[in-house]
Amino acid sequence: MRFYSLKNYKHKASFEEAITHGLAPDKGLYFPERIPVLSKKFLHNLSKNNIYDIAFQLIHPFIGDSISENIVYSIITETLKFTFPVKSIDKNISVLELYQGPTMAFKDIGAKFMAGCLGYFMGKKDSYITVLVATSGDTGGAVAHGFFKVDGIKVVILYPSKRVSELQEKQLTTLGDNIISLEIDGDFDDCQKLVKKAFLDSFLQRNRKLTSANSINIARWLPQIFYYCIAYRFLEKKDHKKVIFSVPSGNFGNICAGLMAERMGLPISLFIASTNENDTIPRFIDSPIYEPKKAKYTLSNAMDVADPSNFIRILALHSNKELLRNNMIAYRFTDKQTIITMQNIWEKRKYMLDPHGAISLLGIMKYLKEKEKNLDTIGFVFETAHPIKFSDKIKEPLRRNISSPNNCNISFNKDKNFYRLSTKYEEFREFLLDTNIR
Ligand SMILES: *Cc1c(COP(=O)(O)O)cnc(C)c1O
Repeated sequence: MRFYSLKNYKHKASFEEAITHGLAPDKGLYFPERIPVLSKKFLHNLSKNNIYDIAFQLIHPFIGDSISENIVYSIITETLKFTFPVKSIDKNISVLELYQGPTMAFKDIGAKFMAGCLGYFMGKKDSYITVLVATSGDTGGAVAHGFFKVDGIKVVILYPSKRVSELQEKQLTTLGDNIISLEIDGDFDDCQKLVKKAFLDSFLQRNRKLTSANSINIARWLPQIFYYCIAYRFLEKKDHKKVIFSVPSGNFGNICAGLMAERMGLPISLFIASTNENDTIPRFIDSPIYEPKKAKYTLSNAMDVADPSNFIRILALHSNKELLRNNMIAYRFTDKQTIITMQNIWEKRKYMLDPHGAISLLGIMKYLKEKEKNLDTIGFVFETAHPIKFSDKIKEPLRRNISSPNNCNISFNKDKNFYRLSTKYEEFREFLLDTNIR
């Protein structure tokens, strides 16, 4: 399979090139030139097959022969080392927990998968590469853990000083080895600007091989198709039910993978893009203009994105807006609604959602209340992070402590290790050129 740039159909790349470059040379996002079709047999056997076989069959057509089948399979088994529980919280609402990985966020899956593929390509050529990531919290930790000790790869993570939660900071700064953390004296946008500038710096590019590991990289984006099949696997009597997903959306990579799964043949009736007050897409769906505003800080901070990079891929999957609107609706919710929902579900079900999961649930509830007459409908909520990751922000409005899962203290007890840099590009550039990569 080849991937083309969404800025120019003629600009094509192999899976390896698309991963190692991140973006096409014209700065377009890569998109698969063909959409694979899932066989009837695959869909029929979903609940019988194990998760590794499912993931392999989903991702293999995109990789083709650029990585041998047994290596792809071993990358998948390394990636999916944890469970994906489904919890029913109402007659027709189920929660799929995607946060059982090492940093307790669903980004662990894409990050680990990308690390496996990139590590393989670097090893094959006996080459090395530096992965640059700007993070507002979750991405950095997931990338750090996914790429930890992968030969041929050095990871440099930029995070905004005092803007990530305590646990997130620990996850970013305590690994060491090939993971370097930079605390930037600015906000997330400053971090992102530094990274973008580095990618445009031709002198640096000649001296350092650089790539990015944010959600636009196809190796982070495509494995997410898997979540939708995993949810489907839990349904009985699939044929009689209408299945909808509410996806808590920030950069719109996850929901775009769902739309891809549907295009590949997974029978999903509708997608709900649920956002916080950063509501560029909910506004765009109902109006002719796309108009991002400055990003606002919210409780669901991994979705504080004003101009979602992956939305262009969603447009590429739908030839016009009418088709998109039949497939995807979009709602926005406030922090107040988020907290009330977390409180309600705790009181009624003794289930603690995190702010992102609460927004996902709000989307399903609004839709079922206002638009759905079919009692057979099943709505899936994605719980994308463990609530403990946000405990410093939510324990006060919730007026309760969040209990930690067993694996959590591991990072808490380790020492932080990081460099502190200003927002000046020259300083960052110097740092990259000085850092010993091999
Ligand atoms: C990144 C993230 C999201 C948003 O996912 P996108 O693919 O960027 O839309 C939602 N929840 C959590 C916890 C995240 O870390």
